[in-house]
Amino acid sequence: MKVHNVEMVISAVRPDQYPEDGLPEFALAGRSNVGKSSFINRMIGRKAMARISSKPGKTQTLNFYKIEEQLFFVDVPGYGYAKVSKSERAAWGKMIEKYFTSRELLKAVVLIVDLRHSPTADDRMMYDFLKHYNIPCIVVATKADKIPKGKWDKHKKIVKETLDMDPADKLIVFSSETGLGFEQAWGEIESYMQ
Ligand code: GDP
Repeated sequence: MKVHNVEMVISAVRPDQYPEDGLPEFALAGRSNVGKSSFINRMIGRKAMARISSKPGKTQTLNFYKIEEQLFFVDVPGYGYAKVSKSERAAWGKMIEKYFTSRELLKAVVLIVDLRHSPTADDRMMYDFLKHYNIPCIVVATKADKIPKGKWDKHKKIVKETLDMDPADKLIVFSSETGLGFEQAWGEIESYMQ
């Protein structure tokens, strides 16, 4: 998709604040610092529209970006940041669970992981949660530019095995730095828009 028009519509904490346009929604999830904001910015062709994390784990809102009047990216606060309190973590869990399990407009979740490392226990929990609720999931393994191309296959295998990925789910190797995987990621997202 060629993106010309993006609008940050709302930072929502409650369902009554979600937009009412009826457009398909795609949530972006990942642990803090994984490269989620950079992924969003690359996909929408903006340098710094999504907040590149200064205070990881602090923003407990769902940020709705309306793209080309056709769909929403819903930026989910990053998980797994050690300094977040127990009560903040619980509030995060409630908000995400509510949105993921009750939002009919949610077409798929893009789960961002780091191609360089094995997915964490939190990544695994998120993937299992999505599978449990039958929410379509696209796994994006980012920061590919940080390892040599010859090692991508080995790292892809580690991601697939650690998440125990359903063979039907797509794993896209991505780099926000170079734009690698841009077309494939948009292609996957658009396949859920029909
Ligand atoms: P977030 O907390 O998940 O939103 O992560 P950010 O998008 O803020 O990225 C965390 C750090 O990783 C920043 O310093 C980014 O510049 C860097 N980063 C993110 N994606 C990539 C990538 O694909 N390649 C490289 N080399 N660095 C990246």
